[in-house]
Amino acid sequence: MTVRQAYKFALDPTPRQQGKLASHTGAARFAYNWGLALVKRRLAERKADKGVVVPWTLPELRREWNRAKAEVAPWWGENSKEAYSSGLAALAQGLASWAASRAGTRAGPRMGFPTRKRKGRSRQGCRFTTDPIRVEADRHHVVLPRLGRIKTHESTRKLARRIEQGTARILAATISQSGGRWFVSFTCEVQRAQRTPRQPGVRVGVDVGVKHLAVVSTGQVIDNPAPLNANLRRLRRQTRQLARCQGSRDPAGGRRPPSRNWQQAKARLARTHARVANLRREALHQLTSDLAITYGTVVVERLNIAGMVQNHRLARAIADSGMGQVHRLLAYKCPWNGGQLVKADLFFPSSKTCSGCGTAKAKLSLAERVFDCEACGLRLDRDLNAARNLAALLEVSEVADASNRMIVVAGSGTETENARGADVRPGAAGQSPKRREASGPGRDGRKTGTAGSQGSAA
Ligand SMILES: [Zn+2]
Repeated sequence: MTVRQAYKFALDPTPRQQGKLASHTGAARFAYNWGLALVKRRLAERKADKGVVVPWTLPELRREWNRAKAEVAPWWGENSKEAYSSGLAALAQGLASWAASRAGTRAGPRMGFPTRKRKGRSRQGCRFTTDPIRVEADRHHVVLPRLGRIKTHESTRKLARRIEQGTARILAATISQSGGRWFVSFTCEVQRAQRTPRQPGVRVGVDVGVKHLAVVSTGQVIDNPAPLNANLRRLRRQTRQLARCQGSRDPAGGRRPPSRNWQQAKARLARTHARVANLRREALHQLTSDLAITYGTVVVERLNIAGMVQNHRLARAIADSGMGQVHRLLAYKCPWNGGQLVKADLFFPSSKTCSGCGTAKAKLSLAERVFDCEACGLRLDRDLNAARNLAALLEVSEVADASNRMIVVAGSGTETENARGADVRPGAAGQSPKRREASGPGRDGRKTGTAGSQGSAA
């Protein structure tokens, strides 16, 4: 099967290269902010004069940019033209999302009108789509347009091997910075070999939770690493330290250059946050890869994360576990490995039903960790009971997976959703937008979704 896949590597740029990297992401930000200001100005002008044209799409924005760049950015030649293009592409995407959200044709929460990107605050990136983009044969360097040969922090072996074998092709490269480190992410077209799970005939239910990251119906329990919880004391201390340093705001309300101590404290805090995110991501990838490689069918429960996070006592633990990511990762890893993922309906009572006799309880509080059936006397761990119910779900209504997408069974409102959770009603009915948010892909998912449209950038 041919899939779009990203390979992301940390970079070890020289100080000179760091300057160039920052210059390119800065250029992208500049073009974005310039374009946004232009759009706002034109929108205001159009109120008085209906004939005013507002640039809205990437080609329109680029035409305007090419006309104005010599005046607004005489230094534009210092960076690749793709830097400006990717900034404008991001703006066009933001405008399109806003328009679609307003028209009710876009999944997920309401999108606001694009806002200015601020240096050091917003996510910075720059996307290249034209040569030279390559991974060097020594597997420790990459080559990017205008930036040249940059050392990678880790081996590029996984991608390099595929390119040498002819099973991967690089479509684009995106540079970004986070947690004080530079990264390059290659968007690739990859030919994946047909695989079969180790136990193709086995279906398992997986209960994703806060207490444990996951409980599999086989009885396997995967602990929640809760990296945020483990690092909370350190984060609090580092935040306090930062607050004591002389920052960029002076007491009078103006701006001042921040002290060196402040900059160092800020970098320390950013590194801790990055570390927490890395630990969480690692645990989630390990769990989902393991499940996808082993079992033919994985059944999960549809989660209403947005609703659950509104419970303030649970919010941090839920966010810390990254529960929602489990579904997103399984959704592509299961088909990649020859298996399938099935999502149970949001209102399937997996926790309240006895996995032995099928009797449903009227009430089961979150504090009850052991499921105790009054009808048949079955006693087992609450999450294991839920996982077993999910595993048994398929026997009720078997489903086919034609498009390698997720399938929803049980309950009324059976629906097939595509990877972007599109086909949405305008979220008028109170609950509906939040359900969408929980079931649709996370922020990362949406990003890969737009990769294709950005690909036509330059
Ligand atoms: Zn029972």
